[in-house]
Amino acid sequence: MPVIPRSSWPADLLRSFAVRGVFVGGCVTRGDGSSFRAKAHAHTSGPHKGWLCFRRADRLDCRALVIHELAHLVTGDGHTDRWRAAVIRLGGTLDPVPGILGDYNKQPRGKPRGPGLMDTPFPKF
Ligand SMILES: [Zn+2]
Ligand SMILES: [Zn+2]
Repeated sequence: MPVIPRSSWPADLLRSFAVRGVFVGGCVTRGDGSSFRAKAHAHTSGPHKGWLCFRRADRLDCRALVIHELAHLVTGDGHTDRWRAAVIRLGGTLDPVPGILGDYNKQPRGKPRGPGLMDTPFPKF
């Protein structure tokens, strides 16, 4: 059952009206079994705006990942300063989570970033 009913959503997703749906096992636009590189992603535009897709159901238990994606929906942004502020406000983290998330702390000296998800923001100098 790739579309997760609201009653089974992680509690953090119920806190925001930005979340329209949650899909597990692929991407909502391509259906069950479709694959993508990242552990999860957020649709911030297009016909499925407000949807979060997770590759595996157990990823829903990773609060850092859930809040990371939720912050994309809330802000509509990639990995911007506004997004970072939203992650912190929602109780998430910008620190790396082994095997799941890279380091999303601001890297002022242009240090290489952790594994990217959907977007690679232009470096700021
Ligand atoms: Zn998707
Ligand atoms: Zn992200």
